[in-house]
Amino acid sequence: MQQKEPKLCKKCKTNNPNIIVQKDPVCKECFIGYVEHMFKMSLRLKCNITQKNEKLLVCFSGGQNSTALVKLASDVVHSTCAHNKSKMFIEVHVLYINESFIMKEFIQEYQPQDYTNFVTNECKLPFQIVDIQSIYPDPYILLQQLHNLSESGSSREDFVRLIKQHIIYDYAIKNGYQNVCFGQNGQRLAADLFSQLSKGRGLSLQSATKYNFSFIYPLNQNKLQILHPLKELLNKDILYYLRLKSNLNFPNFILGQHLSNIVKNKPAHGNIDHLLEQFIDKLQEGFPSTTFTVLSSAEKVTIKPLQQQSHCPLCLEIRDQVYNRLEVETLDNSNQQLINYLRANTKYYNKICFTCNRMLQSAQELENFYNLKGFPPLIVQIADTIQ
Ligand SMILES: [Zn+2]
Repeated sequence: MQQKEPKLCKKCKTNNPNIIVQKDPVCKECFIGYVEHMFKMSLRLKCNITQKNEKLLVCFSGGQNSTALVKLASDVVHSTCAHNKSKMFIEVHVLYINESFIMKEFIQEYQPQDYTNFVTNECKLPFQIVDIQSIYPDPYILLQQLHNLSESGSSREDFVRLIKQHIIYDYAIKNGYQNVCFGQNGQRLAADLFSQLSKGRGLSLQSATKYNFSFIYPLNQNKLQILHPLKELLNKDILYYLRLKSNLNFPNFILGQHLSNIVKNKPAHGNIDHLLEQFIDKLQEGFPSTTFTVLSSAEKVTIKPLQQQSHCPLCLEIRDQVYNRLEVETLDNSNQQLINYLRANTKYYNKICFTCNRMLQSAQELENFYNLKGFPPLIVQIADTIQ
């Protein structure tokens, strides 16, 4: 048998390396140092978090990425990083949207998780939980709306995502946070990009993939910045990081094992997001430059300035015109009579964008959707405000 030469970590030249970072073998300590360094640099240089006492709202979902994000933010705030202990004087607040109300309705085996111990005791960060149904005057309307949406495609997930987005922005505005931090790593952002494109959300290319993207919130004209500080990391980086850090009494939800495959595919079947996620993960395995090629191509796309910039009250993205015949054909317009009726008889039909229309196509009780009947007052107010 051939004896292998003992290798040394490329960075510290002492320890035994067992992780590959950018083609170099590095040890556990240097790997954690690398992730922490990437995070700090992203925040400072790419997300422009340079002011003292800047306030960051970190959105936590319980998944791997946002768990790593919360832990990294905590280390930076409390100067408990493994290597470079330099502290960033920022204020971090963690927001979690509790979806149990919906999950229980659609998934029998759903087990609610309590993340309070992890965020409050382990990470020592202020933590706020908001129930997803809390912005509805009558929470059962939300369930009814989800049941009315088509089971196929990803309409239900997309709708839930829009409601969560409204809760996050509203919370940020009301509590004085200009920076909203999301945990997607580069690989997730690349998959998101593909699913946005396939759903016709081309105009949100920029907001979906940039390190930082700012926009004006329609209700009070305040600026909000969406940050993606984990953009330079991949799934495997996040997994290694969490695994190496798990000696710190991490709760065992961090590897996402509490989600079985059945759960992941519900409430919709054959979910677009999931298929694309798997596709990108497969590509990434065989072709390690996939994620960065996709993301850097997306950075180069510039969006043609539109003549009128009106926004959609549901997704808050720019509402564009339908440009080509194929676009029209993807809409289920077999019932032109119904469309004409909705256009003439509902209050908001003309304000809803192409993609949100696609989300609502083949939904039941369309009239209620387009009149925003039973919707959270916040969304109705936005719809009344925008042109
Ligand atoms: Zn929309």
